[in-house]
Amino acid sequence: MTRTLSADWVVTGEGAPIADGVVLVDGETIVDVRERLASDDCEHFRGVILPGLVNPHTHLEGSAFAGKVEPGGGIAAFAWEYKQAIRSTSMDDVRRSAQAAVDALVECGTALVGDVTNTGVAAPMLARAPIRSVVFHECIAGAPGIPVDGASLAAHAPYSSPPEWLAETYGIAASSDGLTSVHLAEHADERRFLLDGDGPIQELYRMLGVDVRFPIPRRPSVPYLADLGALGPHSLAVHVCDATPMERETLRERRSPIVLCPRSNDFIGGALPDLPAILAEGSQPALGTDSLASSPSLDVLEEAGVLHAAFPDVPCRALVAMATSWGAAAMRRPLLGAIVKGRAPGLLLAPPDDSADVPADPERWLVESSPPRRWLVGPGGSA
Ligand SMILES: [Zn+2]
Repeated sequence: MTRTLSADWVVTGEGAPIADGVVLVDGETIVDVRERLASDDCEHFRGVILPGLVNPHTHLEGSAFAGKVEPGGGIAAFAWEYKQAIRSTSMDDVRRSAQAAVDALVECGTALVGDVTNTGVAAPMLARAPIRSVVFHECIAGAPGIPVDGASLAAHAPYSSPPEWLAETYGIAASSDGLTSVHLAEHADERRFLLDGDGPIQELYRMLGVDVRFPIPRRPSVPYLADLGALGPHSLAVHVCDATPMERETLRERRSPIVLCPRSNDFIGGALPDLPAILAEGSQPALGTDSLASSPSLDVLEEAGVLHAAFPDVPCRALVAMATSWGAAAMRRPLLGAIVKGRAPGLLLAPPDDSADVPADPERWLVESSPPRRWLVGPGGSA
């Protein structure tokens, strides 16, 4: 069935917004997008139509640990407290919180999510939900004992996974035209351990009784993974908060998509990624949320809002693209993320309050206010 939807603004996720715009859809597929004509017979809405959001990085099974981890301690302290939270939380709570998180993702307008799992708990919830998903089965030491149906394999991070596993997960993703994901250049703790084998991560391993069986690489994560052949367009490089300009150049050369999780970086390490530099270098990063243990919500528009507050000179159009089309490109789902003829991104409506004016700058309004939104089309074809 073809529908003709119009609104005060259509924010496409790619290119300039269209004032008094109209979107023609056949099922989920965009047939046309343009300014409204006097002859159009539209379903008209007050506010902004925008594409379904893309969140390439979360850990839904960590949703029950919200509020159980102290901020500001670095990644080793975070990992220690996260492990204590796992031990003190029942599986019923883990399941209940993961289901609530899946519902929240749909509610805030997420069309596609990348979920990293160690247990597979949320995978059937995602399969049932009206949302597209890529599940990354993350295994610390090597191939999983218990497979998760339909999941892509992933390594956790270069300080926790042996080099063979880092290379193998990338090789599997590349040879199947699929996708993997790795936490990379997240925090100074990581750099110190990879260079010298000491510091907070070494202390973490001592406290956990972990015997690191692979050699210390003696170089930072990005050149280390590049040498292993573990960087490329089939691997999401998640965080990149602690990367140097030269390391980011390596990621660009290898065409490894960058996924920023700024609120998680700020919570764990009190730092934000250098977004102005990343954009000036020509990268088109995506935006993830990480888990609710280190982030207050699973809404990538709220991530964009934090970046806007920190970097007000970054164009709001780029921030919206990070939450939509650049995320879809990073996840190799080119039909999602933008309201463009031939694509099927899912359509959201963000209406202003009844008492408020229609925004003069819809992209700025979206990132500054993260307004409530509802689905007009999709996700996954449901209304
Ligand atoms: Zn993560």
